[in-house]
Amino acid sequence: MTVSLLGAADIRRLAAELDVTPTKKLGQNFVVDANTVRKIVQAAAVQPSERVVEIGPGLGSLTLAILETGASVTAVEIDHRLAARLPQTARDRGVPEGALTVVDADAMRVTELPGEPAVLVANLPYNVSVPVLLHFLETFPYLQRGVVMVQAEVAERLAAKPGSKIYGAPSVKAAWYGPWKLSGTVSRQVFWPVPNVDSLLVGFHRDPQPRGSDQERLRTFAIVDAAFNQRRKMLRQALSGIFGSSAEASAVLESAGVAPTARGEDLTVDDYHRIARVAPKD
Ligand code: SAM
Repeated sequence: MTVSLLGAADIRRLAAELDVTPTKKLGQNFVVDANTVRKIVQAAAVQPSERVVEIGPGLGSLTLAILETGASVTAVEIDHRLAARLPQTARDRGVPEGALTVVDADAMRVTELPGEPAVLVANLPYNVSVPVLLHFLETFPYLQRGVVMVQAEVAERLAAKPGSKIYGAPSVKAAWYGPWKLSGTVSRQVFWPVPNVDSLLVGFHRDPQPRGSDQERLRTFAIVDAAFNQRRKMLRQALSGIFGSSAEASAVLESAGVAPTARGEDLTVDDYHRIARVAPKD
C-alpha cells in the first residue's frame, strides 16, 4: 500500500477548496512538512496492526503519515468542513477502505471511540491540550500510550518532575496515569500559519495497573489543585481550606508521611495520592 503525504501546496489547495482560513479559536496550525509528520509517527512507534486515535486531524497531514504505517485511525475533528473532507482526502491519497474512521465531534465531549484505539497521536489544538489529554486518559482505559505535539511550555510541564518551577497541577495529574517524557523538537516553520510559540513532542505510557479508583482520583486532584493554587505557601496553609484548618491539614499530612511545611511543588503523585487516602472522607 502506498499512501502519499500532503505537502505545503496540497494543504493550501485543500484549504482554498474548502474556503478554510485557519482560526486561533480552534488552534488551527496545520503541518505542511512530510518529514515532521513522519517524525511524530516514528516517535510514537506506531505498528501496522495498531489502531490509533488522532485528535484534530485537520486537513489530514498527520493522519496520512499514521495511515502510511499500515495502522488504522479513528480521527476526532470538531470542524465539520474538515471532518467531512477527510475521507475523500484519504481515498485520493491511497488509503485502503476501512482504515480511517472520522468522528465529527468535540474531542472534549466524546465518550466512545470506534475500534478502542490503544495509541494516541496528535498535533493538539493548543487551547485545549491539557484538558483534552486528561479527558482521554480518564475516559478511555484502553489507551495505552501516545505522543502529542503541544506548546513547548505545556510539554515541559507535563513531563516535569517535583522540585522544578514548571512542575504544577497538570504535571501531577498527568503522572497519575503513568510516566511522561519529552520526545523531540519541532520547528515553527513547519506550520501554516506559523505560530508565535514553540512546540515540542511529549509522550506517555499508561501504567499497567490503574493507580486508584475514580473517587480517589477526584479527591487527589482536588488536593493537587488546592496545593498549587497557593504554591508558595506551605501545605498546612494551602490545604487548610479543604481540611478545615491548618491544624487539621497538618494532622492529615503527618499521617500521610508528608511534612506539613513542604510546598506543593515538592510532592510526587504518590505523596498526593497518600494524602487523599488518609484524608477524612465526607
Ligand atoms: N493534525 C493537523 C495537522 O497536524 O496539520 C491539524 C492540527 S491543528 C494544531 C488542531 C486541529 O484540532 C484542527 O484541525 C482543529 O480544527 C481541531 N480541533 C480544535 N479543537 C478541537 C476539539 N475540541 N475537538 C476536536 N478537534 C479540535
